[in-house]
Amino acid sequence: MTFATLGLIEPLLRALQELDYKTPSPIQAQAIPAVLAGRDLMAAAQTGTGKTAGFALPLLQRLTLEGPQVASNSVRALVLCPTRELAEQVHESIRVYGQHLPLTTYAVYGGVSINPQMMKLRKGVDILVATPGRLLDLFRQNAVKFNQLQTLILDEADRMLDLGFSEELRDIYAALPKKRQTLLFSATFSEAIRTLAGNTLNDPLSIEVSPRNVAASSVKQWIIPVDKKRKSELFIHLLKKQRWGQVLVFAKTRNGVDELCEKLQALGINADGIHGDKPQATRQRALDRFKTREIQILVATDVAARGLDIDDLPLVVNFDLPIVAEDYVHRIGRTGRAGNSGQAISLVCADEVQLLSAIEVLTRQTLQRSEEQDFEPEHRVPMTDPSGQVLKKPKKPKKPKTGGGGGKSKTLGKWTESAEPLEAPVKAIRKVPSFNTGPRKKK
Ligand code: AMP
Repeated sequence: MTFATLGLIEPLLRALQELDYKTPSPIQAQAIPAVLAGRDLMAAAQTGTGKTAGFALPLLQRLTLEGPQVASNSVRALVLCPTRELAEQVHESIRVYGQHLPLTTYAVYGGVSINPQMMKLRKGVDILVATPGRLLDLFRQNAVKFNQLQTLILDEADRMLDLGFSEELRDIYAALPKKRQTLLFSATFSEAIRTLAGNTLNDPLSIEVSPRNVAASSVKQWIIPVDKKRKSELFIHLLKKQRWGQVLVFAKTRNGVDELCEKLQALGINADGIHGDKPQATRQRALDRFKTREIQILVATDVAARGLDIDDLPLVVNFDLPIVAEDYVHRIGRTGRAGNSGQAISLVCADEVQLLSAIEVLTRQTLQRSEEQDFEPEHRVPMTDPSGQVLKKPKKPKKPKTGGGGGKSKTLGKWTESAEPLEAPVKAIRKVPSFNTGPRKKK
C-alpha cells in the first residue's frame, strides 16, 4: 500500500516524499480513507504510531478541496491537545505536511501572552491547534469564532480528562456547530472517554492499532527496589556505573524534579528539568536542547510524558512511579521507538508498592526486580503479582539477569499493515531514512 493508493492529492504526496515516508502506518492506512470520506473516528492509538499524519493528511486534503475560504476570526478545523508541548508538535507536523497547500495553521496555548494570538487570529486560520483553557479565553474575548468549523479533533483525549479539562471541553462543545466531523484519539479508553465519545461522535469508525494499555514489547522493563531516601544516590551511582547516555527521568512532583536537577548539576552533570511551574519558553528550550543532545538528563513531571516525540531515546528512568498507572505506559513509550529497543527502569520504594501493583495489573505483567548491590532497601518492597495481589512477605529477590546497561537493538522492520504498531522515530517531523532502522549507533 502507498499513500497514493489512499487517494491523497499531489501536494501532500510531494510533502510525504520529501519526508521520506514510504509506507502508511497501520493507523494511517485505516484513518486516511475514513476521514476523507467524512466519517467520525474513535481511534485508540499512542504517540509514535503516526496518528498525527493519520488525521492531518486527510484533514488538509478536505480543507483544500471543500468549503469556503476562512473568514476573519474564524477557524475551519480545530485540534485540541492536552499540553502546550503537544500543541506545538502537532502544529509543526501539520505545517510540514501542508507546506505545498494554500492553508494556514496556528497553535495557541497558555503560559504565553494572549495578545499576539488575538492578532494572529484576526485574519482567520484554517487549522487551529489549541489547548482547551487558552482556546476558551480566546473564544470568550471574541477572538475566535466557530461558525465555519467543519472538523474537530481531540488528540490524547484521555490526557485532557486526566488533566481536568472536562469542564472546558463541555464549554467548547457548546460553542461548536452541531454538524461537524469529529475525530477522537486516545491512548486508553476509560469509561469517561467512552462517555465523551458517546456524546460527541456520530456513528464513528473504531480503530485500534495497539493492544490497549499494553506497553510496547520493544521496551525492556525492570524495577530496582531501593529506600526512598537513597533514590538520588542510586540514580547517580547507576548513571556513572552503567555509563548512561541520554536519559529521560520522571519524578512525581515539581520539587522532586528541581531537587534531582540541582543534585546532578552540582556534580557537573548536564541536566535540566521541565514541569508545569516553569514558563513555557523555558520548558521548550530544555526540551529542544535535550532533543539536540546538548542536555544529557532531562527530568520531568508527567507534563512531559505524553506526546513528546524524542529521537531514539535508549532509556527512561522512573525516579518515582506515576500516581496514575496509565502514565507508566506513556512514560516508557518515550523509548523503544522506531523499531529500536529501549529500557525502562523504575526506582521503587516500599511506599510505592500499591502504585507498582496498579501498573502490573494494567500492563498484565510482573515487573522483574533487580536489586543493586549496596542499595538493597531496609524497607523491603512487598512482592506483587499482576492479579493485583500484594504479598506481605517479600521473597528473597533474585539476582539480576541484566546488567542494566548497553541495550542491544532489535530490528522490527517497516510499518506494515498488521495490527501491531511499530513506534515511529523521534522529532515531530523530519526526514526518516527508513523504518528498517537496524542496530542503534553506539554513542
Ligand atoms: P506521531 O505518532 O504522529 O507522533 O508520529 C511519530 C513519528 O513518526 C513522527 O516523527 C513522524 O514524523 C513519523 N511518521 C509518521 N508517519 C510516518 C510514515 N508513514 N513513515 C515514516 N515516518 C512516519
